[in-house]
Amino acid sequence: LVQIRDLHKSFGDNHVLRGIDFEVAQGEVVCVIGPSGSGKSTLLRCVNLLETPSSGTVLVAGEDLTDPDCDIDAARRHIGMVFQSFNLFPHHTALTNCMVAQQMVLKRGKKEAREVASKNLDRVGLTDKHDAYPAKLSGGQQQRVAIARALSMAPNLMLFDEPTSALDPELVGEVLTVMRKLAEEGMTMLVVTHEMAFAREVADRVVFMDGGVIVEQGTPHDVIGSPKEPRTKEFLRRVL
Ligand code: ATP
Ligand code: MG
Repeated sequence: LVQIRDLHKSFGDNHVLRGIDFEVAQGEVVCVIGPSGSGKSTLLRCVNLLETPSSGTVLVAGEDLTDPDCDIDAARRHIGMVFQSFNLFPHHTALTNCMVAQQMVLKRGKKEAREVASKNLDRVGLTDKHDAYPAKLSGGQQQRVAIARALSMAPNLMLFDEPTSALDPELVGEVLTVMRKLAEEGMTMLVVTHEMAFAREVADRVVFMDGGVIVEQGTPHDVIGSPKEPRTKEFLRRVL
């Protein structure tokens, strides 16, 4: 579903991504781990062109997003993204937060948008919170609204950038549970996370990044359980 070839990204003279080759197959769950500043968020943001790559190609569903003729907005419609911060509209309820983009971007009518939003809020376990405003929701509930909002756009790929790192520890589990369920339902997911237990249990593949390159990748059993590269070992020794 995603094919990245020789991806480079620089900010000024800061060469952040230094030749990334990487693929995500349909239905695959890939977790990206690595130290702060290694380029994980930049890589994720290049997948939906929130950052413009300096060179290289990014293919999503066969479409080259780096091709100047590509309709980026159309391509992005099929890519959901969930960030560390939830970015909900404070003056909208959970339900209408999940409706806005459907109506504006997908031009769905109000009735359909409401049905889809409602279904996805139920899916993330917020059946009784449809009419709640974000300020009345816990961080974990807000993040689940953000996931429901992304799902309401019927994405074929979901990107997660440290979705639980802004949460109080007791709220992390409910968000990971939703993500685990999505994975089981066959959603294609690319997840930057520090949750090693989640990566170990849910990921089909773990990618370790350091210094803007992929140092090592493989099954969680291999990469987290018995890493080969010294940099991976060092990183895991610090985080586990
Ligand atoms: P963390 O674990 O802290 O989130 P990360 O692996 O996600 O780190 P990135 O956010 O991708 O790392 O950042 C990699 C490098 O790129 C850093 O040196 C950062 O300062 C730089 N960088 C990221 N975004 C920008 C930007 N928009 N403008 C300039 N520099 C940036
Ligand atoms: Mg980051």
